[in-house]
Amino acid sequence: MKHSRLRLVSYIVIAYMLMAFAWWSILLYTKNEDAYTAKDEMLRLRMASVAQFDGTDTESYQLLDKERASLRAEYEWQEWMILGESMVFIVMLIAGVYFIDQGYRKEVESARQRRNFLLSITHELKSPIASIQLILETFLRRELDTPAVRKFSGSALKETKRLHTLVSDLLLSAKLEESFQLNVEEVDISLLLNDLVLELEEKHTDARIHLSEKGDIPNIQGDISGLTSVFINLLENAIKYSKDNASIQVSIENVADKVEIAIADEGIGIPDREKKMVFDKFYRVGSEDTRETKGTGLGLYIVSELVNFHQGSIEIRDNYPQGTVMSVCLPLQQHVAV
Ligand code: ADP
Repeated sequence: MKHSRLRLVSYIVIAYMLMAFAWWSILLYTKNEDAYTAKDEMLRLRMASVAQFDGTDTESYQLLDKERASLRAEYEWQEWMILGESMVFIVMLIAGVYFIDQGYRKEVESARQRRNFLLSITHELKSPIASIQLILETFLRRELDTPAVRKFSGSALKETKRLHTLVSDLLLSAKLEESFQLNVEEVDISLLLNDLVLELEEKHTDARIHLSEKGDIPNIQGDISGLTSVFINLLENAIKYSKDNASIQVSIENVADKVEIAIADEGIGIPDREKKMVFDKFYRVGSEDTRETKGTGLGLYIVSELVNFHQGSIEIRDNYPQGTVMSVCLPLQQHVAV
């Protein structure tokens, strides 16, 4: 609210500056014209009187005529100068306003992201810690039978894993900005995805993940732990942003010297205007105040950075009739930069 009022005030000031400048330009233009007409009229009268007494062939008549011509040239030049300067000023002012506006929008967006990140990270850190604390307090206060101990220990372990994933994501995202290096080796991408699908189906028992391969899939050169992180993030998102009983299709295809892996879900989808932004660090669609899903906005940032490190590409498409397709293209070979 405070920002939009400030913005309105700056627009009013800019509009006032434009109008004032236009007014001063017109005034200068007409005053210049008036001055020229008066000077020209004086010269014309002097020429008329010279002609009346000495004729038009005299030196003083010729001099006055020359003076009149140079007065005209000077007037025309000043006219162009006023016009040119006005144009330059207006163009610069409009360009300035445009850049300030862009900067303002970026600032508002990054403030929104920072706020979202703080809210989500606080929640993501606080809630597992609170659960683990509660479980440990229960262990201390009550004598529990073995099934109850197993149940509570299972929950505590799940929360610990959640914390571990969060801390790993934070560390990895910091590393990706500073000193990350791929540990390249031969990777059987079909086997890797098969293992991940089994692991996730075990973790999310109500999700159905169908994996299909088109033709023979050659091994690629890549970093196993990086690629595991890429596909875990994409598959977890596909499940998280689907309703209950998520149905996910994973397809692997060898296209020329690349392997394309597409993960299609039938979930809530991503609006077109957000498709590029979701790769930004900490970006999450919507507001943290109303969101129900857990997360920090780090997942897709990590994914896109890791895919870039592999000299690959990632694209988001709409799935029909509903949902999202995350399509990752990875080259078979890594070309070492020289
Ligand atoms: P997080 O899931 O922790 O919020 P991500 O970086 O993984 O962060 O994703 C960024 C945002 O992109 C998510 O908050 C969500 O709004 C959107 N998103 C990602 N994957 C999907 C998907 N499969 N379907 C719908 N929205 C998605």
